[in-house]
Amino acid sequence: MARYEVVIVGGGVIGLSIGYALARSGVSCVILDRTELGREASWAGAGMLPPQSEPRPGPIHPSVELRSWSARLYPEWSAALLDETGIDNGYRRTGGVDVAWTEAEEQALRTTAGRWRVEGIAFERLAAGDFGRVEPALNPELRLVYFLPDRAQVRNPRHLRALAVAFTGRGGVIRANCAVEGFIARGDRVVEVRTEAGAFQADQVIVAAGAWSGRLLDALGVHAPTPPLKGQLVLLRGDRPLLRRIVEHGKTYLVPRDDDRILVGATEEDAGFDVLPTADAFRALTEAAVRLCPELKEARVEATWTGLRPGSFDTRPYIGLVPGYRNVVVASGHKRAGLQLSPATAELAVDLVLGRPPRIDLAHFRIDREPSTGDDVFRS
Ligand SMILES: Cc1cc2nc3c(=O)[nH]c(=O)nc-3n(C[C@H](O)[C@H](O)[C@H](O)COP(=O)(O)OP(=O)(O)OC[C@H]3O[C@@H](n4cnc5c(N)ncnc54)[C@H](O)[C@@H]3O)c2cc1C
Repeated sequence: MARYEVVIVGGGVIGLSIGYALARSGVSCVILDRTELGREASWAGAGMLPPQSEPRPGPIHPSVELRSWSARLYPEWSAALLDETGIDNGYRRTGGVDVAWTEAEEQALRTTAGRWRVEGIAFERLAAGDFGRVEPALNPELRLVYFLPDRAQVRNPRHLRALAVAFTGRGGVIRANCAVEGFIARGDRVVEVRTEAGAFQADQVIVAAGAWSGRLLDALGVHAPTPPLKGQLVLLRGDRPLLRRIVEHGKTYLVPRDDDRILVGATEEDAGFDVLPTADAFRALTEAAVRLCPELKEARVEATWTGLRPGSFDTRPYIGLVPGYRNVVVASGHKRAGLQLSPATAELAVDLVLGRPPRIDLAHFRIDREPSTGDDVFRS
């Protein structure tokens, strides 16, 4: 039976990032995925990354800490991945604009800007008539526009490929088409991971199976739902670069790539594990896009697709030891923010595997926490 120090269940951005971080620490790991790696939410996502914040004196909310730490790690990881693999993951600090059409949206955006100020995130409010200085293609009739110069993006498929190549380059093993079916536990330790392709022995196990994690945790007798939240996207292509910045209007966004493509997202639907695109979502997304940037009406539609964001029982991911087990870690439920939070999540998983004190207080992210009713601070 194959034996590894760590068996990681799930090869999305979370599992791959953990594998890469562990491989950098010299830990022998295998990543098991029930299909090809990185073909689910992590492939589908838009790859928007929040701006870095300047650390301020005084206590920081652990969710803000997780987000800003990840934002700081992204340029560092991207450079290391390029160096190790030759793959450019498309990390770019393109900047972004957040916009409002109505008075109510203006109020909400001003409140968000207050939070940016407290967190030390750079932003500038653009005066009417001055939008074109930052983003010439924006509809000049918008009511309010904020410019965030440090908003960034990554190309998900390239990032996933770079992580996989770097992981295997450091001796990590990838087993695709190897669905985990259950676990064998002895006392408070899982000793074997059972798959359709045989069993794996492990000193430690990490559950990072996205929206499917809840089912695996159920198999361990632990209730921690990871409900899928369906998201649909449309990929447009112009015949010249139309936008420079990421444009965000509430939950709608335009993400310009450096090859004349613009990703328009995204819906949030409670539709179980259904992944079929719908006509209704397509119409709503393209209409919203053309209203934000009228020149897009000539753009060609290149593709549409969907992905299933892994939810949790509140707005935060689960990161930490699984209750009742000394050697099982969960890293899942990152919902809309799994790409942005992946490097810091991976570093925390390394702390847990190596038995070091986690660099962020994990009380906030444990499965057995009190559910949060607070704001979703993982948006910007
Ligand atoms: C439309 C859309 C837009 C998004 N935009 C952004 C964004 O701009 N920025 C951002 O930060 N986040 C974004 N997200 C969210 C982000 O994509 C997710 O939070 C993230 O990809 C979750 O990663 P994951 O590794 O947990 O899950 P996944 O990528 O779903 O990976 C889970 C893996 O586990 C495997 N698996 C499942 N069950 C088993 C099993 N039994 N055995 C073995 N393997 C198994 C699956 O095959 C899969 O490969 C977006 C998501 C969507 C859908």
